[in-house]
Amino acid sequence: MGKEMIRLQGVTKRYGNNQVLKGVDLSVMEGEIYGLIGKNGAGKTTIFKILLGLSVYDGGRISIDGGSNEKELREARKGIGFFIGKNFFDYMTARDNLKYYCILKGVKDYSEIDRVLDLVGLEGVNTKYKGFSMGMKQRLGIACALLGNPKILVLDEPVNGLDPQGIAEIRHLLQDINKKHGTTIIISSHILGEVEHTATRFGILNDGIIAREIGSEDLKIENNEINLTIPFSEVEKARNILQENGIHILDESRKGTSLEEYYFNLVGGDTQ
Ligand code: ADP
Repeated sequence: MGKEMIRLQGVTKRYGNNQVLKGVDLSVMEGEIYGLIGKNGAGKTTIFKILLGLSVYDGGRISIDGGSNEKELREARKGIGFFIGKNFFDYMTARDNLKYYCILKGVKDYSEIDRVLDLVGLEGVNTKYKGFSMGMKQRLGIACALLGNPKILVLDEPVNGLDPQGIAEIRHLLQDINKKHGTTIIISSHILGEVEHTATRFGILNDGIIAREIGSEDLKIENNEINLTIPFSEVEKARNILQENGIHILDESRKGTSLEEYYFNLVGGDTQ
């Protein structure tokens, strides 16, 4: 890591009287999975549209893959695969929908269709889009973003409306793509818990600015307490030793099961 793939500096955007972005500073390093978190209406999609050149911004600077003038940005944007809303034809299969997007995106190698369908686990599905489950629709959106093997993936709410199993599957998929191809990924969500285990760094969008950017590791370090896990049978002994040495115990709890672990234990499946 080390190269900055995306940088927004002081980006502002207003719709009429609605000042949505008040000076957004954001940076995403190569190979990161960046989680953009913010309430509904916070401006996440607006940031993505500006990044992709689909919406104009009022002020500030953008750089993508080292390029910052219009010509460089146009070139750099060719390396971005994106998924903002599901725009697929109901009466077409996954394959035909992707063929349509290959033409739109100028992807001439149609073997890409099989590659991305395989990646998202939709190979061999011949149902028309209207018969797809929510999870299949999200997967097709990601497959579409992956056409042409982009350097950067921009995914707007890719797990929105999915059940825990679906969220875990998309998480594995994105982590896999990130690991195999070194793809830089930006995902947004209005629910922190949905991307908590997927992203390596987070930006919290609130009141028109990125209120905080933090890495998942720093998040642990920032919490200045350490948890020790010891067998239940040794608790008394450990407590005595700590007290004899003047060490305060700030908290003591018996480890339970996380809701996610509990859920998967009950219904089967995998949280990893
Ligand atoms: P998020 O993706 O975080 O839910 P959006 O970027 O979609 O937020 O929207 C941010 C704000 O901008 C909302 O108040 C929304 O109503 C407004 N907005 C988005 N697009 C437009 C538009 N094309 N015209 C006017 N207002 C818009």
